Amino acid sequence: MRRALIAGNWKMYKTDAEAIELARGLAREAGNLTDRDVLLCPPFTSLKSVSEAIARTNVKLGGQTLHWEKEGAFTGMVSGPMLKSVGCSHVIIGHSEQRQFFGETNETVNKRVKAALFHGLVPIMCVGELLAEREAGKAEAVVKEQVEGGLKSITAEEMKKIVIAYEPVWAIGTGKTATPDDADNMHRFIRSLIAKMYGDAVAEGTIIQYGGSVKPENVDELMAKPNIDGALVGGASLKVDSFTRIVRFK
Ligand code: PEP
Repeated sequence: MRRALIAGNWKMYKTDAEAIELARGLAREAGNLTDRDVLLCPPFTSLKSVSEAIARTNVKLGGQTLHWEKEGAFTGMVSGPMLKSVGCSHVIIGHSEQRQFFGETNETVNKRVKAALFHGLVPIMCVGELLAEREAGKAEAVVKEQVEGGLKSITAEEMKKIVIAYEPVWAIGTGKTATPDDADNMHRFIRSLIAKMYGDAVAEGTIIQYGGSVKPENVDELMAKPNIDGALVGGASLKVDSFTRIVRFK
């Protein structure tokens, strides 16, 4: 009943010409899939050109963050209406790199989630523990705080539109992947938190992506797990071949 969502987070990679080439390749190889959703999240500078490259395909477009105000003196930021205006349907919020390098907190995540919903964008709210937190046995407590803080005063109706991405920080860009069982256990825990907050039906419908060194070699076993509904992919989304194999998981 949950439709798989495979998203490519291009981070701060690709000039505009490179982005167009990659998007065209992916549109050709994965543009006509109908049983799963494929999403590209290029840098802001290439949203418009990627939007043109994937036009008339099933591939969707997302931003990598947004500001909670609709406009204003916030140098360097973009707003929900701006993302919508270039064809975005989704936006990544609370990525660990935003938390680590740009002062993102659970409070700012919550503001961005509300703004995304207000402007008709699907928020992909990222959560995940640091290695030290996992080793100290605090992984679930950290993720609980992130889920509850990020979703503060979100209604059940709104929750139906939100995607969660579980990304253990120690697995992002490191080549270390959580084992499918470890990832599935955390996804089950997150789903139980959603169930407590919003009831079983909303929890059963919530898409929970896994992120952290997803590759062609491990995507099938991750996606085979009952609580893993998709992937948020960094490094392996930057090449047509590897991302195509990932979106075509079996
Ligand atoms: C990410 O950017 O969200 C990510 C999971 O990166 P990688 O796949 O490179 O670990």
